[in-house]
Amino acid sequence: MDFLNKLRWRIQQFMQGRYGPDKLTQVLLWTGLAVYIVNLFLRWPILVFVSLALYAIAIFRMLSKNRAARAKENQQFFQFWYSLKTKLGQLRLRLKNMREYKYFHCSQCRTMLRSRRGNGKRMITCPKCGKQFEIKS
Ligand SMILES: [Zn+2]
Repeated sequence: MDFLNKLRWRIQQFMQGRYGPDKLTQVLLWTGLAVYIVNLFLRWPILVFVSLALYAIAIFRMLSKNRAARAKENQQFFQFWYSLKTKLGQLRLRLKNMREYKYFHCSQCRTMLRSRRGNGKRMITCPKCGKQFEIKS
C-alpha cells in the first residue's frame, strides 16, 4: 500500500504542469487502436508505423508542458470535426432529396441553394447576398 501511494505521488509529481488527455488525444488513441486492429487482418508494415505514430503524438500531447498550443490544437480539431459533420449532414440531405430538388451554389457567396426540379430555366435571387442568376432545374 505504501508503495502504491508512493507511486501515485510520483505520477502526480510527473504530471504536474503537463497538458494531460483531451478529446483530440482520445481520438488519436482510438484511431491508433482501430488502425492496429485493421492491420491484424491486412498485415501492411506501413500501418504499424501509422498506428505507432498516432500513439506517439497522443503521448507527446499528454506529456507536453505547452498547454496553450495543445489547447489550440484541440480547438482546431473541433472546428474541423464540426465542419466535416455539417458537410456530411448536407450531403445526406441532398442525397435524400435529390429526386425532388436540384442543389447548387450561389455564384457569388457559395451558399448552398436548392430549387424544385422540373421548373426549367428561371431567374432566382440568393437569399443571403441578393445576387440574381439563372438556373436550370
Ligand atoms: Zn449568394
